[in-house]
Amino acid sequence: MLLPHSLTRAPFLLRWRNAPDTEPHAAPPRSPLALAGWVALWIAGPANWPLWKAFAGLPDVTGTRGLLFGIAFGLMIAAAMAALLSLLAWRSTFKPALTVVLLTAAVSAHFMGSYGIVIDPTMILNVLGTDVRETRDLLSLRLLESLLLLAALPLWWLWRQPVDYQRWPARAIRNLSGFVGALVVLAAMTLLCFQDLSGTMRNHKELRYLVNPLNGFYSVGRVAYAKQAKPAGPPLPIGLDARPLAPLAGQRTPLLLLVVGETARADHFALNGYPRDTDPELRALDVLSFRNVTSCGTNTAASLPCMVSHLGRTAHEARSHNYENLLDLLQHAGLAVLWIENQAGCKEVCDRVPHTRPEQPAPGATPPDARLCPNGECLDEAMLHGLDARLAALPATQRARGVVLVIHQMGSHGPAYSQRSPADLKRFTPECTSTVLQQCDHQRLVNAYDNSIAYTDHVLAQSVRWLRQQTASYDPAMLYLSDHGESLGENNLYLHGLPYAIAPREQKHVPMIAWLPPQRLQADRLDLGCLRGRLDTALSHDNLFHTVLGLARVQAGEYQPALDALAPCRAAS
Ligand SMILES: [Zn+2]
Repeated sequence: MLLPHSLTRAPFLLRWRNAPDTEPHAAPPRSPLALAGWVALWIAGPANWPLWKAFAGLPDVTGTRGLLFGIAFGLMIAAAMAALLSLLAWRSTFKPALTVVLLTAAVSAHFMGSYGIVIDPTMILNVLGTDVRETRDLLSLRLLESLLLLAALPLWWLWRQPVDYQRWPARAIRNLSGFVGALVVLAAMTLLCFQDLSGTMRNHKELRYLVNPLNGFYSVGRVAYAKQAKPAGPPLPIGLDARPLAPLAGQRTPLLLLVVGETARADHFALNGYPRDTDPELRALDVLSFRNVTSCGTNTAASLPCMVSHLGRTAHEARSHNYENLLDLLQHAGLAVLWIENQAGCKEVCDRVPHTRPEQPAPGATPPDARLCPNGECLDEAMLHGLDARLAALPATQRARGVVLVIHQMGSHGPAYSQRSPADLKRFTPECTSTVLQQCDHQRLVNAYDNSIAYTDHVLAQSVRWLRQQTASYDPAMLYLSDHGESLGENNLYLHGLPYAIAPREQKHVPMIAWLPPQRLQADRLDLGCLRGRLDTALSHDNLFHTVLGLARVQAGEYQPALDALAPCRAAS
């Protein structure tokens, strides 16, 4: 943690300043409530600059009335902060609390201001689920500036202030009156501008997630509560009746490669009408690109469990129990399942099935070339390295019933887009290489992102080439679906993870691409013309569970043909 040097010394300084014998000219000790008031104003003002920037841009907040509403809104935030700090104004808690509050506010302001994200419960879950590599991508000089200016500067001043805490009964009474006084100000301001407040909050829901750092504290509280409320014990089983369908005439063993994409937006694929040539290799392969697919969430932690759930988005969000998922069901059916992970983790969905990482080769195989895994991070192609050995290492009896391999991509994960494609495959230059996206020239940013999409095109085409080699023993198929999209500066928004209800389409419109060779189409009685006619059908992550069961030829009580994206084109056998 970056703390100014004065901070580590501060307790000694404080004692020294408080001792009148050694420092006769020391400033008179201050009331903690006065300091709480100053900090509350600092937080409501400068530390909330992303909120005020968004506020100033609202079309319906203008003129003197808008200005007065802004001032009242600012005072409401300051009053709420002051109320909170009043309760903590004790000798042992006050300055540590101010430190935590100011550091949190400085860090949140940086991320909200630089990436257009908001701090809500799902963002807290993302932060908890992140790893060193993701964190490293997000550290920047701008974050240090924000910490120095918004936190270290006021903290340097605060820790030097002598404070008169008084004895405890008096302190308790004063803290309580400070708390009540702040609440009175909050209530008065709310009443004064109630009309503007309710209208603005209704029309611009995102504002409430920008109130810094109360949004962060609220979200941490929600996450902690939700964790507590989550049912204990293992997830309830599903698919205990699941079994492979009896093979039809001419069918070989099904082999499905499911590619879970990352941060790919549908509208950046030429297959879906993007004017740039981002997917030349896939287009040469005669794939089916479903152009109208919506994600379940706007971040990995929300989308991934939902994608493999049998419940669908609405029931998944409202669930009172955790359930096993698609991968467990395939395993119950007796199929061989393997998850290969190239990201920060599978968010617990692969916990009960065999899983590995590209750096860990199958027994007897070699690890991927160092060029595929530079700086301790693997390019997605590394997941295809040694797939023959991985397939051969799966239990033979399960392999004979069917194989589902899942590869979880690094894909287009930001903000370091330029690191998501190797130097020799960059089609669009120059690239933005900064992770502070707002500082990037827009075209360079899009170039870096499009290179990551073009690299995904290459990885998917490579995976198809591998699948083609398996046709003697298997009926292969590839299904690619991204977990969510990405904002690339539209409306000043970057990255992803906005609350679903207010997230723009760029964060929810995802690519879904299937490769089904003629052999597979014939074996599964699938009509290609019918499938081509369905490419604009509205689909969502809700369809994945059932579509995969269809492609894996697995029968289970949870399977709903109506949600299988390919079922309408499958002839009854
Ligand atoms: Zn993701």
